[in-house]
Amino acid sequence: MDWQKLETYFHSLDRSLFVGNDIKKHASIDVPLPIGFGQTISQPSLVLKMTQILEPENNSKVLEIGTGSGFQTAILAKMSAEVYTVERIDELAKKAKNRLDTLNFSNIYYKIGDGSTGWQEYAPYDRIMVTAAAGLLPDELVNQLAIGGRMVIPIGPPYLQELKLITKTDNSKINIETMELVRFVELKGRYGWVEIGKL
Ligand code: SAM
Repeated sequence: MDWQKLETYFHSLDRSLFVGNDIKKHASIDVPLPIGFGQTISQPSLVLKMTQILEPENNSKVLEIGTGSGFQTAILAKMSAEVYTVERIDELAKKAKNRLDTLNFSNIYYKIGDGSTGWQEYAPYDRIMVTAAAGLLPDELVNQLAIGGRMVIPIGPPYLQELKLITKTDNSKINIETMELVRFVELKGRYGWVEIGKL
């Protein structure tokens, strides 16, 4: 990964473009902010950290689950060849696409639907970034990760999760590393977070 390119783009990207008018005055603060529908734009320093862990290369095909505001999508699209991004909330996906079109990205493909099942049509992916918390590691996402690929995903109960780095080795085995504690909104959907006892 080109670390210098990531740092430069990250610091040049105006986060106020990705939030509503009432929130713009807070956009430069390093905290998550509301984007509507009970969802948040992630803390910028965490977006940077997760991208550094993901290590997208300029020829990578990336799957992102949870488009949200599109802020993380922009960074992934700058750092890789193609980004396939899935968002379950129609209005958020449309707003994000408008913003990213305004920034002239032509390597982003959008889907509105349940990203907990991935996006099988274009699999495998060299990198998978999940920006909502799953209860368990979704098998479908593991299956859609290319050999040699990397996936970053928060796993754990609502309000506190472990950020995991999943790497798939040459013999299709996976290695799971815990990177740090994080707090994300829930991954909904078929392989999303399920309350223990409701399984
Ligand atoms: N990375 C985003 C950004 O920079 O704005 C923040 C993402 S926000 C923390 C998590 C997003 O995941 C929300 O927009 C939420 O609607 C979405 N989400 C939750 N479950 C999902 C699912 N099963 N499929 C697709 N998107 C999902």
